Formats: sequence, C-alpha cells, structure tokens
Amino acid sequence: MALGTASTRTDHARTVRELLASGEQSYSFEFAAPKSEKGERTLWNAIRRIEAVGPTFVSVTYGAGGSSREGTVRATERIATDTTLTPVAHLTAVNHSLAELRNIIGQYADAGIRNMLAVRGDPPGDPMGEWVRHPEGIGYAAELVRLIKESGDFCVGVAAFPEMHPRSTDWETDIGHFVDKCRAGADFAITQMFFYPEDYLRLRDRVAAAGCETPIIPEIMPVTNIRQIERFAQLSNAAFPPELAGRILAVKDDPAAVRSIGIEYATELCSRLMAEGIPGLHFITLNHSTATLEIYENLGLHQRS
Ligand code: FAD
Repeated sequence: MALGTASTRTDHARTVRELLASGEQSYSFEFAAPKSEKGERTLWNAIRRIEAVGPTFVSVTYGAGGSSREGTVRATERIATDTTLTPVAHLTAVNHSLAELRNIIGQYADAGIRNMLAVRGDPPGDPMGEWVRHPEGIGYAAELVRLIKESGDFCVGVAAFPEMHPRSTDWETDIGHFVDKCRAGADFAITQMFFYPEDYLRLRDRVAAAGCETPIIPEIMPVTNIRQIERFAQLSNAAFPPELAGRILAVKDDPAAVRSIGIEYATELCSRLMAEGIPGLHFITLNHSTATLEIYENLGLHQRS
C-alpha cells in the first residue's frame, strides 16, 4: 500500500473514512486535552512539530470519567481552525446524559469537526470498577455510534482490543460486540496499545471471519522510561513482553538507553505490521512529539511528507 501524499494530508475537511478509502496507509497521532497552561504550551509545541510531517489525522482524547469536556472541545476546535491537520475528537458516554452528549456533538459540529472516536469510557477512579449507566445516558459504545450518526454527517471510529476487552469473558462475545459497533455505523477502528503483532493479526482475522470489513488501525506507544512498564499494564491490560522488560531493567539507570530500546522495539513492531498491509499506524504521543517522530523517521515515513 502506498503512503499518503502531502496533497491529501493537508485537506482537513476530509473524513478519516475518505482518507482510508484512498488506499494510502495512514499515519496519525493521539494527544490528550491539556489540564493547565503549561500543559497547553507543551501540547501545542508537539502539535506544531507533528503538523510539519503532514500526518493523515490527529486525535484528541476525552478525559477519563468524562472529565475534559471543555479541554477536548477547545483543543480539537483550535486544531480544526488554526492548523492544516484533520482532527478526530474522542467522545465518551460515561457520566453524560443523552442531552449532554447531543450538546457536545453539536459543539464539535459547530467547530467544523467531522470525525469522532466513540468510546464508552471507564468509570472514574477505578477503570475496572462497576460501570454505572447515567440514568438518562447510554450503556455501550454502539449506542453512542448510533447517536453521533443520527446527529449529522460524521465519520465515526470505535475502539478495538487485540487482547480482548478486559470486561469481556470470551472472544466470541467480544468480537460480536465489536461487530455490533461497526454495524451501528462505525467507519474505522483504532486498537488499544499492544506489544505483540500476532495479537493484532489474530483480532483482524477474527473480525474478518465474522464478516466485518471495518478497517482496524493499530495503536502504538513506545516505552520511553522505566515507570511506563507498570503504567502500561494498568492502562491497557496489555501483556508486557518479558524479554523487553528484561532488556529495559538491565539499563534502568541509563534513561537514554531505556528510551533507545523502547523506540527500537516500537519501530520493529511498526515494520512488522506495515508488512502485513495494515490500514495505518496511530501513535500515542503523551503530548510529546520526539519519541514518535523518531520512530516515524526510523520507518522512513518522513521522506514521504
Ligand atoms: P464498548 O464497546 O461499549 O464495550 C465495553 C464492554 O462491554 C466490552 O467488554 C464489550 O464486549 C461489552 N459490550 C458491548 N456491547 C454490549 C452489549 N450490548 N451487551 C453486553 N456487553 C456489551 N477512554 C476515555 O475515557 N477517553 C478516551 O478518549 C479514550 N480513548 C480511547 C481510544 C482508543 C483507541 C481505545 C482503544 C480506548 C480508549 N478509551 C478512552 C478507553 C475506553 O473508554 C475503554 O477501554 C472502555 O472500557 C471501552 O470502551 P468501548 O468503547 O470499547 O466500550
């Protein structure tokens, strides 16, 4: 599959659906809504550096427990108006009534945003705590997809889980629910971060075997410091490769060496996935561009922008 060209990447009014349908492998970056002025400066520094390489799209997360509504709307709106980037706004159902969700969707529409990532969200505090549906809200991401689709001409993405959603008890049910989200109108999916390419490939095969052709973009997050090993497991439930942990722990007092191993591992993961004909790569930046841009450069993608 060919990589994107600068002419398609600078048209921010396009939808991710259209960009993926062009047949070009996409590459995109994820940011988190800032919580302070300092955070806002860090975010915009990263956005400007990433804008320079012409990614297919960028996304902005919605804070855990529905906490960053204003921040996400503001950051996504500014990306739409002040940059050449195509923004995808994440939206979660947690702690929101239907009326509130319609209101936020309306704010995104007013800001010229055409792409949303519809996720259910986790309960505030303990992500594995009891999920409580808002009395006037919705219970699953599929309902959020339907709500967004009914609200206007939006392109909608959903979450996919290469190691199964942690609340699911078996693969068949998990894939069935994923396919429900796609049938509800999802145009694309982005996975949870993972470390073994086989996990992604098995998920893709299972979804295809269920008769679903929605493109699934793998999400990549490089390990850049030792604290992230534990954090990864908490956040994603993803199995952390023991051999990678061993290599990192062996150089734990040398931050540059830790970072270099993490970037090398992520580069190798991306290369293997690209060889498998994936629709694109989605990089988690944690609002810092350097590590992901290094991987991007290692993969030779910078030469295409
Ligand atoms: P759902 O698809 O609703 O699934 C949740 C669970 O319910 C699964 O076990 C599923 O199998 C099951 N299920 C689905 N439908 C049914 C049904 N009809 N009956 C019974 N069970 C059912 N969180 C944030 O707070 N903010 C973000 O910005 C954010 N962005 C994310 C981006 C990506 C790419 C990913 C992978 C995750 C993101 N998350 C975010 C985390 C996400 O909110 C959690 O992983 C959440 O637990 C799952 O969301 P979902 O949309 O997959 O839920």
